Amino acid sequence: MFQLTGKVALVTGGSRGIGRACCEALAEHGATVVVNYVKGEAAAKEVADAITARGGKAEIAGFDVADTKAAEAAIDEIAKRHGRLDILVANAGISIDGLLLRLKEEDVDRLFQVNVKGSLACAKAATKVMMRARTGRIMFMSSVVAEMGNVGQTAYAASKAAVIGAAKSIAREFASRNITVNVITPGFIDTDMTSNMTDAMKEQLVKVVPLGRTGTAREIAAACVYLASDEAAYVTGQVLRVNGGMYV
Ligand code: NAP
Repeated sequence: MFQLTGKVALVTGGSRGIGRACCEALAEHGATVVVNYVKGEAAAKEVADAITARGGKAEIAGFDVADTKAAEAAIDEIAKRHGRLDILVANAGISIDGLLLRLKEEDVDRLFQVNVKGSLACAKAATKVMMRARTGRIMFMSSVVAEMGNVGQTAYAASKAAVIGAAKSIAREFASRNITVNVITPGFIDTDMTSNMTDAMKEQLVKVVPLGRTGTAREIAAACVYLASDEAAYVTGQVLRVNGGMYV
């Protein structure tokens, strides 16, 4: 089950955190993985090296998902070089927190540029390739806060909710081409993104997680492998919540 041998996967923001875990898990299941990054070339290289050291196949590709032309050109190039692109994990994302009354316009713009526009640019470029192949898998990385909201995360939550609406629409647009499009909404996962929280803040947060702990990037990657697999061929337009019961 969940065999991905012969498939080519692009994971945006694959250099760290959840993206890194997705790269590793997809490669473990046989996929050739393209690890995208924007700044962390050394980190991306480390991910690719770790995968190849374990007998997997990986390479790196640096581009800013928020730069539509660069993202489209990079994805075209990856697809041409490999002759295919089977899996896209639109994971690259940023968080900028702040209460509504303190929200800065430039922060809202940046959140939407990366989290929404960036994800859509990658999906658009990937679907062009997948359409011709009449098969493909796209996973968007949203967040639990898109569905439940969170104090101090109005703009971030809005950007992540936008991704859900987009994914459901793309799922409908491309179902006839056998391309499935799904969303993963992680709960509170231990990564760089959440590392600036104090222990007291983390303790407070974990209290609202029925399973009583934070999640791991590997637990998100497992959902990603499932949705990428042939076994998930009949699953599209869905939101897969991996959040320890934080939102049910
Ligand atoms: P992270 O540790 O901060 O890693 C972010 C990744 O995105 C890095 O690989 C980074 O690349 C890349 N990235 C950022 N901006 C980019 C851009 N403009 N173009 C290309 N790559 C870019 O984040 P994470 O916690 O793993 O989160 C991954 C995704 O899950 C995000 O979309 C996030 O919103 C979502 N999420 C996370 C949590 C959580 O609790 N951690 C919860 C819900 C949802 P560089 O290394 O080059 O900077």
